[in-house]
Amino acid sequence: MLLADFRSDTVTRPTAAMREAMVRAEVGDDVYGDDPTVNALQERLARDLGFEAGLFVPSGTQSNLIALMAHCQRGDEYIVGSEAHTFKYEAGGAAVLGSIQPQPIPQAADGTLPLDLVRTAVKPDDVHFARSRVLCLENTWHGQPLPLGHAEQARALCDARGLMLHLDGARLFNAAIAQGKSAREIAAPFHSVSVCLSKGLGAPVGSVLLGSSSLIEQAKRLRKLLGGGWRQAGLLAAAGLHALDHHVQRLADDHRRARELGAELAAVPGLKVEPEHTNLLYVHVPAERLDALRAALAQAGILASVGSSPRIRLVTHLDIDDAAVSGCVAAFRAAAQ
Ligand SMILES: *Cc1c(COP(=O)(O)O)cnc(C)c1O
Repeated sequence: MLLADFRSDTVTRPTAAMREAMVRAEVGDDVYGDDPTVNALQERLARDLGFEAGLFVPSGTQSNLIALMAHCQRGDEYIVGSEAHTFKYEAGGAAVLGSIQPQPIPQAADGTLPLDLVRTAVKPDDVHFARSRVLCLENTWHGQPLPLGHAEQARALCDARGLMLHLDGARLFNAAIAQGKSAREIAAPFHSVSVCLSKGLGAPVGSVLLGSSSLIEQAKRLRKLLGGGWRQAGLLAAAGLHALDHHVQRLADDHRRARELGAELAAVPGLKVEPEHTNLLYVHVPAERLDALRAALAQAGILASVGSSPRIRLVTHLDIDDAAVSGCVAAFRAAAQ
């Protein structure tokens, strides 16, 4: 029997109350702009995060891709961390579908992009070069909120060099809760922001791209082009609205459980636990113990991504309660026997 799933915060299932909200949703055809619930979600997030407009899309991957394609022409480039999700984990979409060249920059351990490296990566206007157009940051970065002030410094550089600044804010609300800032403050330095509703916020589907009215106008065409024009999407938007009303403050519970899990695991002989910041915890397990750990987790009904790497990511979320944390600790202890 499945006790708990620590693989990702994407595994959350809609709560009974969220399903109720979905059933009650008023809907229309969103390609015509007629879905009142989709419109309400877009307006709500735009207002909350301080943008003119928003666009509800099926995934974070599509949201980031649309943002890059809306900011760039063919032959433009975007500057991005070499470990960033948009660069590494989105199937190369910007290059494949947008003809946008990525210019990766080695990231610092805290997820910041060393701005002197960014500055030298911005190309002069010269026929030899792609046109540098966008700088892309990510928050949270592997669970770490970007240090306060970094985005503002990045924005100053962008303003000086004529770049747009995009945020992959898949877990922006985790950063806001962890840093005691409003989501609006975290989003303020950016020209566009993508947020996920289907991670820790617990909605089944969807991300929202925020930006200026003209950017979102273009984004709507690009969403259609990418096959993301959907119809009675209000059923899904209702889940997003419910998540914004009920699942933002509770992210603090996920952070507390990650902290408690980290403290318990740090006491197990042989384990090394990286400092956790939000809902992602990284644990180093001796390589020779991985088989035993896999067996102990399976025995306890716990899913976790234990592959060949000794560095294991554990994620807390809406469907992880205190009992799940205790069960996970017990499995790691059993594997240490
Ligand atoms: C999950 C995630 C995305 C987008 O994911 P989808 O699975 O396409 O919704 C983008 N960036 C980061 C950092 C993510 O964790």
